[in-house]
Amino acid sequence: MNPAEIATKEEQAVENAAQPIVKPTPKENRVINFFNSTPLDWEDWRWQLRNRIRTKDVLSKLINLTPEEEKGIDGAGTKLTMSIPPYFASLIDPEDPQCPIRLQSVPQAFELETSPEEMADPCGEDKNSPVHGLVHRYPDRVLFLVNEMCAMYCRYCTRSRMVGDGNRTLSTATYKAALDYIRSNKKIRDVLISGGDPLTLSDNTLEFLIKSLKEIPHVEFVRIGTRIPVTLPQRVTLDLVRMLKKYSPIWMSIHFNHPKEITKRVKFACDLLADSGIPMGSQTVLLKGINDKPAVMKKLMHELLKIRVRPYYIYQCDPILGSKHFRTSVATGINIIEKLRGHTTGYAVPTYVIDGPGGGGKIPIMPDYILSKGDGKYTLRNFAGKEYTYYDPEI
Ligand SMILES: *Cc1c(COP(=O)(O)O)cnc(C)c1O
Ligand code: SF4
Repeated sequence: MNPAEIATKEEQAVENAAQPIVKPTPKENRVINFFNSTPLDWEDWRWQLRNRIRTKDVLSKLINLTPEEEKGIDGAGTKLTMSIPPYFASLIDPEDPQCPIRLQSVPQAFELETSPEEMADPCGEDKNSPVHGLVHRYPDRVLFLVNEMCAMYCRYCTRSRMVGDGNRTLSTATYKAALDYIRSNKKIRDVLISGGDPLTLSDNTLEFLIKSLKEIPHVEFVRIGTRIPVTLPQRVTLDLVRMLKKYSPIWMSIHFNHPKEITKRVKFACDLLADSGIPMGSQTVLLKGINDKPAVMKKLMHELLKIRVRPYYIYQCDPILGSKHFRTSVATGINIIEKLRGHTTGYAVPTYVIDGPGGGGKIPIMPDYILSKGDGKYTLRNFAGKEYTYYDPEI
């Protein structure tokens, strides 16, 4: 399907609301039938949110849970709850406990074990928060955490201390205080709207926030950090992209972790976003057994470029409580960058960063390409291991 063809089909579907925009796959149909629902419900993001899988009872009818998963789900209620949109659940391999979609969304017993290096707030966000909802760490930009709800709760979530369901959308008064803070800080030129997941908000609330930010003269642009185009791509509607387009430039950072996440529905959502002039970057968390093999990561980066998403960051997994089973060595991350840089398209190489535990912010980590330096002379190696010398200009 080319994008023009999709757009026409979508417009038709919107007009007569009779046929689904994207035909469900057999895997999707299995879950549609399980819910006794229809392909049109399946395309309705509110239906997907209402029917998120939250209990062991429902999930066990869709996939063969292991004893570790059952224990994990029982324990998760007290910490980060389980929540899986039916669409995302349709990507889970029912028989393979190592399925990368499953490992990210279904709690395991390991989550209940904590290690000494782990923290509730590893990035030190709470202590860098001048008003509720804002994290102001870097001088010229601010992180605006606008809600606490996501479509799917990633088991390794760096904000697991605060995300979750319940009636925890921020109040109008809280939004107002955050907007006032931004308005009174002329150095803030870039506002990153995140959460939770800002795309679980209604179009109206989201528009209120973006419009209010764009009315502040020193705010040059807004960014949205989200995982919804991956876990609930149906949320990216024509109405949403039409609204966003009015506030151009808006950048979007989308959280992608595995090539299996890039389905035709996700491609459709990213096409709508890209065609509306929204530049997209990816953020990926390095996760043991999910994307810690260079070949898997390279494939993910290639698939992202094909849907017009530019790889932006790979994050070392933050040491949140109960995350040991997800965390790899730093050497694993460095080796992945080593296997990408020079070996494939430069656009496919993101920056690998560690968020300095305790509030250091993003610290870039690179393979060492400088073998030695001194007296204005650098001995370098290239991606293939060959040596070269570069001389500084003489002063
Ligand atoms: C990641 C982050 C940003 C944005 O950083 P960029 O490198 O500009 O993408 C801003 N504030 C906080 C607190 C962050 O964690
Ligand atoms: S979408 Fe983001 S904020 Fe929400 S659970 Fe996943 S990592 Fe956490």
